[in-house]
Amino acid sequence: MVHVSFPYSAPVSQTLFDRAAAVTPGGVNSPVRAFRAVGGTPRFMVSGTGPYLTDADGREYVDLVCSWGPMILGHSHPDVIAAVQEAVSRGTSFGTPGEGEVALAEEIVARIAPVEQVRLVSSGTEATMSAIRLARGFTGRAKIIKFAGCYHGHVDALLAAAGSGLATFGLPDTPGVTGAQAGDTIVVPYNDLDAVRAAFAANAGEIACVITEASPGNMGVVPPGDGFNQGLADLCRENGALYISDEVMTGFRTSKAGWFGVDGVRPDLMTFGKVMGGGFPAAAFGGRADVMEHLAPVGPVYQAGTLSGNPIATAAGLAQLRLLDDDAYDKVDVVSGQLRALVTDALSKEGVAHRLQNASNMFSVFFTDGEVRNYDDAKKQESFRFTAFFHSMLSQGVYLPPSAFESWFVSTAHDDRAIERIAAALPSAARAAAEATETTTEATA
Ligand SMILES: *Cc1c(COP(=O)(O)O)cnc(C)c1O
Repeated sequence: MVHVSFPYSAPVSQTLFDRAAAVTPGGVNSPVRAFRAVGGTPRFMVSGTGPYLTDADGREYVDLVCSWGPMILGHSHPDVIAAVQEAVSRGTSFGTPGEGEVALAEEIVARIAPVEQVRLVSSGTEATMSAIRLARGFTGRAKIIKFAGCYHGHVDALLAAAGSGLATFGLPDTPGVTGAQAGDTIVVPYNDLDAVRAAFAANAGEIACVITEASPGNMGVVPPGDGFNQGLADLCRENGALYISDEVMTGFRTSKAGWFGVDGVRPDLMTFGKVMGGGFPAAAFGGRADVMEHLAPVGPVYQAGTLSGNPIATAAGLAQLRLLDDDAYDKVDVVSGQLRALVTDALSKEGVAHRLQNASNMFSVFFTDGEVRNYDDAKKQESFRFTAFFHSMLSQGVYLPPSAFESWFVSTAHDDRAIERIAAALPSAARAAAEATETTTEATA
């Protein structure tokens, strides 16, 4: 039964959603886009400009999802659009090397010191999958360590206790992943170096790598505690394993050099996606040259992609990265700080227990009292309050991630007008969160 009364209907989106659901499971091409955790009809967007999205019913929203991170310059940035138009006028894919992919690789290597060599792929999932294969091929070992609540794309071996959509929908793991694929994955609690140490001790000489989100954003924002990433790097080195820092979300977002630029801990391999594609499918993995040289065609570890380094995707990514100078990051940090203050203020005024956590300009709200240091802490929050909060914001034209377990994203395009609109929506959303009870907001789609 649906207990939530949705503030208004979205008839055109509803019609599109019905068509979509007839031909696509759940009507979406990625589960996090569905509104299943919050109820209601997903909004079908038709255009985006700066900090705004417009849906098929003609309503405008301030966008705090930014395509789940990539749109750090806002939508339809003129320089990115121009670069795409110039590239597309020359053709769409050649299946040969091209200068655009070299330029993008050079930009990545120039920004991120631990990346000596990089290979381009088309999605973050491909990047982490390939990095894990490379780590196994390089070390000749099978086992990997990952953290509960960290999401690394839908790689079979990495879907154990994963964040993002699996956290949103409360899925511990997924059918279709065999024991053989998951059996070499050791899952430990985040921010717990003793657990990592114990896993290494129990599997001496068998661990190929530790993979971690550089600063997790897929169980909500849960930054690494002091010394945690360095501790991981040290444990890997002591045990002959590789340290893989997944910067698909944080890369080129949390600073010019991503989270590496914040904490300076040197990984052996890193993965990137989201921002580096400028809204197109471009992603990458890279790191130590002596490790990367194990990849085909130089080495024996196979990895390939028909559309890897696609000229349009690389043109968009490069145009976006070239605009991301220190001023741009300063701007995004300021916007993020303003919003965090506004959200805390509104929730505090209504006496709603909450905790705002941030990692540079990424932030999220947990509807709970205590500090959130790991996935178990994150799951203790009262997500029914988020449901009420989300729908109130949506009805007032603010588009939040439809999940209590996702980071919010802002851009350089979030100007005073956009922030004022968010500020105006917050008081009644906070009130809705305060008044919510578990039963009033049980959102069964
Ligand atoms: C989004 C994400 C991925 C997966 O990237 P896709 O492009 O969706 O495959 C991997 N790791 C992290 C940390 C992510 O946030």
